[in-house]
Amino acid sequence: MMTRITHTIAGLTVATAYIGMAGNHTYLSAIPVLLAGAIGGTLPDIDYHLGDARKTNTIWKHRGIGHTLLFLALCIAGFVYVGKYAHYNLNQEMMVFSLAFLSHLILDSFTMVGVPFLYPLTIKGFCLRLFRVGTIQEYGLITLPLLVFLVLTGIHIFPSSDIQYIFHNQYF
Ligand SMILES: [Zn+2]
Repeated sequence: MMTRITHTIAGLTVATAYIGMAGNHTYLSAIPVLLAGAIGGTLPDIDYHLGDARKTNTIWKHRGIGHTLLFLALCIAGFVYVGKYAHYNLNQEMMVFSLAFLSHLILDSFTMVGVPFLYPLTIKGFCLRLFRVGTIQEYGLITLPLLVFLVLTGIHIFPSSDIQYIFHNQYF
């Protein structure tokens, strides 16, 4: 795992970018999309609790089953199932969840521990070994730029009339 804060910011950034591009959200309808981004961005690390973090030669470890495209496919199946039987259109939440989930796998693959994307085809982990988790490199190269992008895309999703209202308020 990268630090949870990095993954949460990445997931929320995916959501705000999506909401900004879709352009037709209300504050209320944006909430489930933001939640889907935050959950998708952090869910892969659930495997930390499913297995034994000290093991290396099994999929039941940290950076194991939660960090696979197979797990994402199971989650998508869950969205489709719930959407169908609850008669609720979850397509936007599913899309943002999936992109946020992928952002987690990609970000993790920048570090020193491999991500087993293709399990069960291969248990081999892929990583670029750019930096270690929790270091100044992670925060400087990933977390901070993501945070800036989150603020920029976050501002963008507020209707301009609301922003004008705030700045024309007499208390400003
Ligand atoms: Zn992770």
